[in-house]
Amino acid sequence: MRRATLTFDNGPDRAITPAVLDILRRRNVPAHFFVLGKHLAEPEGRALVARAVAEAHCVGNHSFTHEIPLGDDPRPDAVAAEIAATDARLKSLVPGPKRFRPFGGGGILGPHLLSRAAVTHLVEQGYSCVLWTSVPRDWVDPNGWVARALADCLAQPHAVVVLHDIPDACLAGLEGFLDAAEREGIELVTDLPLSVTPILDGKIVGDLDAIVAK
Ligand SMILES: [Zn+2]
Repeated sequence: MRRATLTFDNGPDRAITPAVLDILRRRNVPAHFFVLGKHLAEPEGRALVARAVAEAHCVGNHSFTHEIPLGDDPRPDAVAAEIAATDARLKSLVPGPKRFRPFGGGGILGPHLLSRAAVTHLVEQGYSCVLWTSVPRDWVDPNGWVARALADCLAQPHAVVVLHDIPDACLAGLEGFLDAAEREGIELVTDLPLSVTPILDGKIVGDLDAIVAK
């Protein structure tokens, strides 16, 4: 049986995230949410993280500002400002393993994703670094992403799909995607294949050369 893991990035969004959570709850589908620290200043953002955790989803860190990919960020305090500052807002809400998803460049994997300082921090803090295998570009095409995501899921034994719980992205197509995944017998899980976690629970277990700035 094919498996796939859905990941929702860049939230929580007070309009979209509740609707995504409603759909996932109704369909009994667990997922990952990689959130931005800047969205956790208000109580609404923190309440959405708490709801996601209570509904058995995994919540991880996707940077604070989501502005400059860590491998390109010249600030000496970028790791503190992006990863640690988000963790400071997240850690009381999210029990269990720490996960970080780097961002940048419309989902392109490359050395812009991480700095050496970021790798050191992720290892020291016991993080898993969570990459992906499918970017169906929901933010460009809020309905058309469904066919691309489905094709990716059918082409891989275990796809890890990047979606976005922000306005004008995955929400319009989400029910249709879940219908199609069910028809195709794709099991939706929160497990992650080893190939997308080059850092796993603080240990480097994969090749980082391609995703860390020189
Ligand atoms: Zn992102």
